[in-house]
Amino acid sequence: MASSGVRRVILLTLGWADLPITVSIHGDTSGERLREPVPGVLLQCDGGWVLIDTGFNPALLRDGPLRRRFHSDGTEAILPEGPGDPLESALEAAGLALADVKVVALSHLHYDHAGGVRHFTGFGVPVHLQRAEYSYAMSAHPEPERHGMFRIDYDDPEINWRLADGDAEIAPGVHAVASPGHTPGHQSFVVDLDPSVGGGGFVFAFDAADLVANIEHELSVGSFINCRPEDTVASIRRLKALAAERGYPIVPGHDPVAWPALSSQLASRWPAAGRYAP
Ligand SMILES: [Zn+2]
Repeated sequence: MASSGVRRVILLTLGWADLPITVSIHGDTSGERLREPVPGVLLQCDGGWVLIDTGFNPALLRDGPLRRRFHSDGTEAILPEGPGDPLESALEAAGLALADVKVVALSHLHYDHAGGVRHFTGFGVPVHLQRAEYSYAMSAHPEPERHGMFRIDYDDPEINWRLADGDAEIAPGVHAVASPGHTPGHQSFVVDLDPSVGGGGFVFAFDAADLVANIEHELSVGSFINCRPEDTVASIRRLKALAAERGYPIVPGHDPVAWPALSSQLASRWPAAGRYAP
């Protein structure tokens, strides 16, 4: 049976990060700061909902000593309003519950992407990641923590890891594509929409390209591990080639304008979002 495509896409904003633009664009001299959204993507596939990326671990922001240890590097992590768990609240707002998520994928293990994977331990939910990312993130302290990967978020023997060595299909219509540079095992995602919803699709870059400018002008991202800044452009070019082949737009991971714009556009394309029962 031919696999069918994704039937609905919902973008989640799981918080924000207030940071110097140099984190996103290597060598930028404007002195500007940006308030970048923290992304999550929900995809309705055959077999249930797929969640890509999980946002912050709120405990590390709400507890004073943990906040001092994990969040004192010049990037201000901002949680959505309210006392709730940001991922749970975002799912609720989309009409879903944690139990509706049947497959999780992580672009990489930075704290603004992996902080919610703790919700998916012990239930057998597969969590897709690149093996290179896992190996780096589990390497000796303090290297990963210095680079924004916090073991407390992901070092759990009950996580049902599915570790890939390169490109992999993670659900019908959803392919992970290796896009290393920002982190050693970063992955992006190609999403094919089902013909029943008009076909087409998206390439979700995540942190292989934070901003539209990284893609349009092929500018190196400002944060990278074990490579030269210009090496991050190879992944940007790879995503551009994949997108061009298919005629899909590339969605940058943290763009303060493009992310909310696409979020609203998709919410009007699928106006039932937020109203269907889990
Ligand atoms: Zn990152």
